[in-house]
Amino acid sequence: MIDLHTHTLFSDGVLLPSELVYRAKFKGYTAIALTDHVDYSNYEFNIPKIVEVARVLQENYDIKVLPGVEITYVPPKLIADIVEKCRKLGAKIIVVHGETVAETVPAETNHYALKAGIDILAHPGHITKEDVLLAKENNVCLEITTRKGHNVTNKEVATLAMQCGTNLVLNTDSHTPDDLMDLKKIEKTLLEAGLYLKYFETMQKNSQNIIDKK
Ligand SMILES: [Zn+2]
Ligand SMILES: [Zn+2]
Repeated sequence: MIDLHTHTLFSDGVLLPSELVYRAKFKGYTAIALTDHVDYSNYEFNIPKIVEVARVLQENYDIKVLPGVEITYVPPKLIADIVEKCRKLGAKIIVVHGETVAETVPAETNHYALKAGIDILAHPGHITKEDVLLAKENNVCLEITTRKGHNVTNKEVATLAMQCGTNLVLNTDSHTPDDLMDLKKIEKTLLEAGLYLKYFETMQKNSQNIIDKK
């Protein structure tokens, strides 16, 4: 299993990177991205530390560990700027905290994120068809999430992505060990999103393609 959206103590997750990664490995993961929340206050602090721990864990625990970020509540017009800064510091997987209906994310975050050179737009909420097409054009994957609250628009996102031919990935947005991926969560999430279970393989291939590009 591949999961490209998780949180550690470096933002609002409850586990150290080492424990999260080892627990993921134990659950059968083959790859994980550590994507803690960042804005202009903490990206310079977080990224070098996540890059270092990802390297150590990958070498010792036989699991692919990708350093990443989830750019969160950055003013939409500045997303491209912070993406560039995060890449320079070594963030491999760049996720943006999209316009989930569970929170008041700044309007147009989805649109500006999709033009900013990111890898994944997380929980994009009531995303417009124009933006789903923009995701396809710019090779950005849209996220189907197992996370409660953010997951209420999964079906809407999946339906539009299918119509437009936009790639989807399945992520957990894990904050605690119980959030990590397992078959039960995968089945439930795909069923609720109106996707066939076999579509999980396609989403995992899309995740693998993101990794292969790095
Ligand atoms: Zn988020
Ligand atoms: Zn998240």
